[in-house]
Amino acid sequence: MRLLLVEDERSLSKALTAILEGNHYSVDAVYDGQEALAYLEATDYDGVILDIMLPKVDGLSVLRQLRAQGSHVPVLMLTAKSEVEDRVLGLDSGANDYLAKPFATAELLARIRAMTRIRRGQGNNLLRRGNLTLDLASFELSTPTGSTRLPNKEFQMLEMLMSSPSALISAGRFIETVWGLDSDVETNVVWVHISCLRRILTELGADVQIRAVRNGGYRLEAVR
Ligand code: CA
Repeated sequence: MRLLLVEDERSLSKALTAILEGNHYSVDAVYDGQEALAYLEATDYDGVILDIMLPKVDGLSVLRQLRAQGSHVPVLMLTAKSEVEDRVLGLDSGANDYLAKPFATAELLARIRAMTRIRRGQGNNLLRRGNLTLDLASFELSTPTGSTRLPNKEFQMLEMLMSSPSALISAGRFIETVWGLDSDVETNVVWVHISCLRRILTELGADVQIRAVRNGGYRLEAVR
C-alpha cells in the first residue's frame, strides 16, 4: 500500500516514514501543501496522512481541493492543536479521520488500517482468498497447514493480488505501488518477488496460485 505523508516537521516526517516502512507500507514524504497536490495528481495513493499546518498551501485547502476534484482517497488529518474547531473543519472538509499530536504509533497504524479497509468494504484486518488468509496487521499469511510472516515487498504484492481478485495487476502497477514511480526498479525485480511468493504459496499448500498472463499482468487463480 502506498501512502502519502504530508508533514513539514522534518524530524517527525522522518520518524513516521521509518515506522510506516517498518510496517510494510510504501511512503512518499512531502513537506508542503503544494508538493502534496502535485504528488496526489501524479500517483494513485491508498491513503494520505495530512498535517493541517503546512507551508504554501495548508492541509485543509489541500483536502478541499482533493475532494473538489472527486478523489475518494482516505485522508487522516493530523492536528497539532487539540482544538475541536480544527477537527470539525477537517471532518466537514472530507477527512476520514483525525489524530491529535502527540499520538501513539499503535493508534496511528490502527487508524490507517481502519480507513483503508473501509475503502475496500472490508470488516476486519483479514483478507481471504481460497484457503489463504492474510492478516494485514501482523503480515502473517496462513493456510490450514501452516503460516509465515511475509517480508515487506511480498506482503504488499500479495495484498494487492488478494484485494482485487479478478483484475490483472501489471508489473508496472506493482512497481508504482510498492517501489514508487520515481524508483528505477526494473521488471525483473517484480519477477524475483513473484517467484518468491509462488514458493511461499507452494510451501503453505495454497489452493490458489499466481498466474501470469502474457503482456497483461498477474492474478490469483484456483490451482487446478
Ligand atoms: Ca505542521
